[in-house]
Amino acid sequence: MSVDADAQVLAGLDRWRTMSAGQQPHWPDLAELDAVTRKLALVPPLVFAGEADALRAQLGAAGRGEAFLLQGGDCAETFAEATADNIRNKIKTILQMAVVLTYGASLPVIKMGRMAGQYAKPRSSDEETRGGVTLPAFRGDIINGFEFTPEDRTPDPRRLLEAYHTSASTLNLIRAFTTGGFASLLRAHEWNKGFMANPAYARYEEIAAEIDRAIRFMAACGADFDALRSVDFYSSHEGLLLDYERPLTRIDSRTGLPYDCSAHFLWIGERTRELDGAHVDYFSRVHNPIGIKLGPASTADDALALIDKLNPTAEPGRITFITRMGAGKIRDRLPALVEKVTADGRPVTWVCDPMHGNGITSASGYKTRRFSDVMDEVAGFFEVHRALGTVPGGLHIELTGDDVTEVLGGSEEIDDAGLARRYETLVDPRLNHQQSLELALQVVELLRRS
Ligand code: PEP
Ligand code: MN
Repeated sequence: MSVDADAQVLAGLDRWRTMSAGQQPHWPDLAELDAVTRKLALVPPLVFAGEADALRAQLGAAGRGEAFLLQGGDCAETFAEATADNIRNKIKTILQMAVVLTYGASLPVIKMGRMAGQYAKPRSSDEETRGGVTLPAFRGDIINGFEFTPEDRTPDPRRLLEAYHTSASTLNLIRAFTTGGFASLLRAHEWNKGFMANPAYARYEEIAAEIDRAIRFMAACGADFDALRSVDFYSSHEGLLLDYERPLTRIDSRTGLPYDCSAHFLWIGERTRELDGAHVDYFSRVHNPIGIKLGPASTADDALALIDKLNPTAEPGRITFITRMGAGKIRDRLPALVEKVTADGRPVTWVCDPMHGNGITSASGYKTRRFSDVMDEVAGFFEVHRALGTVPGGLHIELTGDDVTEVLGGSEEIDDAGLARRYETLVDPRLNHQQSLELALQVVELLRRS
């Protein structure tokens, strides 16, 4: 590329600064922010452009029904919880679900964590008031602390560097776990057998027995190759904090094109996807595969205009629409959206987030969700796509590998009183380890019926 073209690309990457950017913090010290972002511009990338390209191709396959995406992890990661145990349990849960889904869908499952960078949160209000004291709302560990004190809640740019380093160590462990034997298919299958030993899961016995037979058959045939022993595991987070995403963007030396090297996949949230907003402009200029959340008020015209901006060349896998309608609305809202986007002809990958449209407050005051609503939205997603002859391309789930009690229901029958036992999330409630596996098993039941 010529020097002029390079200069143009770089100038474009800063265009968002002149536009309205929702959900950004008010940094009290801009000189410190500047010093931090200069450092971030020099650190090694967390992911490589070639990996993002490989993921884009796989997401394109998911859009055609040749693969299925499983994206999962915390609503908000925290620095304190980036421990080996936590990371291992989350990877383990996603891999266990992936085994079940691979069998159920008879498709390769693309494994992706809401991990190694999911630190910035959109909030409904800039401020929080408790007992007459008003402080900035918690916006995620990359911006401020959760404790309700002026020290913690004041946005601190040094947190951007901590987010980078914590993402790097998380990703390092993910890469080690998923290539060093831990991710072996046979091992994930053994974990699932442990889960099935629980009488609460008798309902899934038949599926579990089938998977077991399939795996024993493969083993008997001598199927013992590398593909079973290591997996590709991609990182993703909401591309919300532009002061972080911009300095981690690098020009790929192979192609001269910019990639946001903070993660393989970035998504634009429901609250920051305005067509003329800073986020859509920024992510239109980087070449990673991009997700966009679409809530119940989204129109087909919104979706088509987003395609115009983000994927004018109609590249498969570039755009994933993550719909999050709510169980009560998906059967009503999704069809028109899918129908019109499909008629347009440019490829998109449709993924279901059955979490964010199903929030409720429990009688005792916990922000929660019902497992049955989550499953109902997933069922609605498959029904709508089946009726239209379009492709359900994957699932986007808030989950953890631990035995928390944040979502109501599931085989463990967590009730309102039960939420208090281990409610740990700082933002949205997550499926626990058992509920996550149950979701995967119920998806297999749904696929059977189709
Ligand atoms: C999220 O994914 O945590 C989130 C805030 O989602 P949405 O943008 O769909 O509300
Ligand atoms: Mn969330």
